[in-house]
Amino acid sequence: MQPLQDRPDQAADEYETHLRTCRQCDADGRPCSVAKYLRRVHNNLARAARGRRDVSPR
Ligand SMILES: [Zn+2]
Repeated sequence: MQPLQDRPDQAADEYETHLRTCRQCDADGRPCSVAKYLRRVHNNLARAARGRRDVSPR
């Protein structure tokens, strides 16, 4: 199993799954602290992945 740091797609999937399944997000109608954390992780990974692609096109 790969670490989450190497899997931006998986991080996005975990965030979306959390939004669907988290009772607190559903009750509040907005992302809870866990959802915000998962979204931040995904954003960081996605940005890092884009940065790596920009540096080395292949
Ligand atoms: Zn939540």
